[in-house]
Order: sequence, then C-alpha cells, then structure tokens
Amino acid sequence: MMAQLIIEKLTKRFGTSIGVEGLDLSVNEGELVALLGPSGCGKTTTLRMVAGFLPPTSGRVLFDREDVTQLPAYKRATGMVFQSYALFPHMSAADNVGFGLEMRGLNAAERKTRIEEALKLVRLSHLADRLPRQLSGGQQQRVALARALVINPRIFLLDEPLSNLDAKLRAEVRLEIRALQQRLGLTTLMVTHDREEALTMADRLVVMEGGRVRQIGTPQELYDSPVDAFVADFVGRCNILPGRRADERQFRTSGGLLLPVDVIGGERDDANAFALRPERIDIVPGDAGEVRGRVQAITYMGAQTEYVVAFGDETLVAVRPTPDAGEPLAALKPNDSVSLQWDRKVPRLVPQTS
Ligand code: ATP
Repeated sequence: MMAQLIIEKLTKRFGTSIGVEGLDLSVNEGELVALLGPSGCGKTTTLRMVAGFLPPTSGRVLFDREDVTQLPAYKRATGMVFQSYALFPHMSAADNVGFGLEMRGLNAAERKTRIEEALKLVRLSHLADRLPRQLSGGQQQRVALARALVINPRIFLLDEPLSNLDAKLRAEVRLEIRALQQRLGLTTLMVTHDREEALTMADRLVVMEGGRVRQIGTPQELYDSPVDAFVADFVGRCNILPGRRADERQFRTSGGLLLPVDVIGGERDDANAFALRPERIDIVPGDAGEVRGRVQAITYMGAQTEYVVAFGDETLVAVRPTPDAGEPLAALKPNDSVSLQWDRKVPRLVPQTS
C-alpha cells in the first residue's frame, strides 16, 4: 500500500552552511511531486533525508501518520532510483532486481514470482539474464526501476532518473515512468534540475533555492502565476523588466517604458518587476499600438520564430508560430516598426529577490 508522505519543518545544516531550511511539504497518495531548482538548492539533501540516508538537523518525516525520522533507510520501505542506476555489474538483470528481496528474507519461490512481475512491469522479461553491460542505458534504467518497485515501496523516490539518457530516449522514458507511476498509484518524490522534465511529469512542483522553498504548485500555477522573478525565470523563458507600477493599468520600467497590466489579486507590495512569457506577446507590424518598438533580431526556430523588439535600451522577446509566406509577420525585417500587445491580465508583477 502506498503512503502519504509528510515533511515537517525539515532542516539540514552542514556545519554553518544550509543544506535545507524549514521545508514543509506533503505528497498525497499516488501523487508525483518534483523538487526543482539550481545546483546546490537542497534537492538531493531533501531526498536523502526522506530515504533515511541522512539524518536531519531538525524536523520530521512521516509516512502516513508514522514518524520515520529515526528509522534507518532499510526499514522505511522506500524504492529509490538513482541517476547512476547503481546496478551490480556482475549480476544479471533478474538478480539485480531480486537483491533487495534476498536482503528481506523472502524464499526462492517468492523471489522468483516477484522478480518476474517487476521485470514484466518495465517490459524487460525477455532480457532477465543479461548483465548490465549487455543492456542499453534505457534498459539499465528500467532494471533500476524494477528493482525499486519489487519491494512494494510505500514511497517511491527518483533522483534525477533521466539525466544519463540521451534527449530522445529521455522523452520516451519520461512518459514510461509517468505512466507506470500513475497506473500503480505510486506516491513519488522526484529530484530534477530539468524544468521540462518537472513540468511534464509532476502533479505539483516545489521550486527551491538556497535550501528554501520559493513556491509549491501545479506546473500551470507556477508557469502562469509565479510568486517571484526567480520562479518565473526558472520554470520557463520569461521577459523580466525591473520598474514599478505606474497606476492601476500600467507598469513603468526603469527605462521609462509604459507597459499595460491590470491589477489582479495577490499582487505583492514589493513587486518591482514585470514578468511576461514570450509566447503571450502578439506582434502587429506598424506603429499604431500602445507599446511601440523596433525589431532588433528575428530568429527562425522551426515551428516558432523569435522576435527581439527594442525600446531604447530595453527589449522584449516575443515568440510566435512561424508565419506562412504572405502573412504580415513573414515580411518583417530588423529595424521595422512594430507594436506589441497582450491580454493585460496576463503579465505578473513580481518581486525580484536576490
Ligand atoms: P545538485 O543539483 O547539484 O545535486 P542539489 O540541489 O541536490 O544540487 P544538495 O546536494 O542537496 O543540492 O546540496 C545543498 C547544499 O548543501 C549545497 O550547498 C551543498 O554544498 C551542501 N551540502 C550537501 N551535502 C553536504 C555535505 N555532506 N557536507 C557539506 N555540505 C553539503
């Protein structure tokens, strides 16, 4: 049976330096939550404390209502998948999968059944006798998954599970892990520094920085309503311009540019930056609109085209579907006058914390 994971005020200090500070988080039964953030933000430290590899300085970890903070790792029944796979090179796929079962004292017949089930889950039954070096990277990763699942874990932990795979395979394995996680209803905590991985796989994301949580929410909440410029920038490309709100309908950048933006609920008093995603900006050739500038650069990116538009020293980047020949945007050249427009409820005014 899968459990709910509850993390309360979890803190880890290494001497005077902060690993994780006061982390509160719950992962519901069957939910996948991803810890996302730059290198050194405390993701791995958090995961290791949940697994039981690292004792916290303070705070608690609970599986359902059971406090496991003091339990050693082998008694927690977590299934963990590492970036490096950590397979035993001299053991077959099946023996790697069964290793944890032997440690748990299951007899040979029980082990055999469980190993077969786990290998079937990851579609590797036909390669059970191969050694790790006779398997591709993606197949080795699936052995590692089977090994984590075979013990019927209460909590499933993924530590950058895809970073050793090439881009194409990564997209494939990503979908596969997500499908398996949903089908089996695995309560999962995943660590990643790859925003695409986090956005596509997770039910909710935790963006961390310097050992602290910046924001917790669904991918869409973080993408559309980031609480600060750090989150805005970390979960996707974003135009971020410093300045101040001029009035209820406009923001004045530090360069003096007036940008349309309505007041919406939740705007912070210390908001000092305008945040707007490039794909939310429309471009109209000519200078009839509210926000007028000049095209500085046009970059073709296949299905989309990126336009850098300059206003004096400031720029905004807009990304549009690549226009077909004959459409007004198809004729745009650097230095042309354009107007930019957007739904004035879409930009967010956020603090630019350091
Ligand atoms: P990465 O993506 O690079 O793995 P991370 O977000 O997982 O980074 P952590 O490994 O959790 O970051 O590290 C958080 C902070 O704690 C970092 O500043 C790191 O230097 C520090 N830290 C981690 N382990 C130790 C340790 N054993 N001793 C001292 N400091 C440590």
